[in-house]
Amino acid sequence: MTILVFKSTVLMYHAIPADAADPAGADPHYSVSRARFGEQLRLLADCGLRPTSVRAMLDAHGLGHDLRRCVGITFDDGHRSNHEAAAMLREVGGSADFFVNPSTVGSGNFCSWAQLREMADWGMSIQSHGQHHRFLDDLPAAEVEMELARSKEIIEQELGRAVTLFAPPGGRQSADLEAVALRLGYERICSSRVGLWGDGGGGMYEVPRLAVLAGTSQAQLRRWVTQAPLEMAWQRSRYGALRRAKRMLGNGAYVRLRGALLGERAR
Ligand SMILES: [Zn+2]
Repeated sequence: MTILVFKSTVLMYHAIPADAADPAGADPHYSVSRARFGEQLRLLADCGLRPTSVRAMLDAHGLGHDLRRCVGITFDDGHRSNHEAAAMLREVGGSADFFVNPSTVGSGNFCSWAQLREMADWGMSIQSHGQHHRFLDDLPAAEVEMELARSKEIIEQELGRAVTLFAPPGGRQSADLEAVALRLGYERICSSRVGLWGDGGGGMYEVPRLAVLAGTSQAQLRRWVTQAPLEMAWQRSRYGALRRAKRMLGNGAYVRLRGALLGERAR
């Protein structure tokens, strides 16, 4: 069997309220309006890409399927607008992972268990964001373990489906999080590190994610999902990346590439 080596873009969303100006308890900075989310799904389709849960991407990888046409989609916090996001994804034949906190499910502005069950029936993956949305780097080891173990147990009980992915609240990781998560039966940590899945940075079982915010433009999103040359490196270190590209490509190829990138940006 040939193993294809490539990198995947995984996006991180939070709430997608109907009215971005009134995001029903969610942080406006992290909220993408429903209309904008619809435009973003159309952008993926225009690029020939399918929105896919990390869970489905892991399963497909095990089967040796080509994942280069997939973009990972995840949602943190279980805001009640996530139910509508799932319905929109279902409509385009896509899926996503939804990371929820059992202690908030069914309260205030959060999805109910009945909604999460329905989303799971639609092919969405419901995963753990910890029991109480506490920052793990502030907690003693025993409480970190409780956050991971208890949340997994409750979601599995409520939904009757395995919980195998964990997203640390606020992206804050305790030192040995990977080891603890693997021991408790998780397979991957979906982090907040800026990067592409398979880029060799971070932990071995880490899935880095790019946060889609209220201010994320269509052009920016297009560069992320098409993995425009140098885009990720530019995110981290613009000047270092330019120097490396010049050395790698020679100046002629570098200038042509730069022109192509700027053309892309002008659109
Ligand atoms: Zn969160």
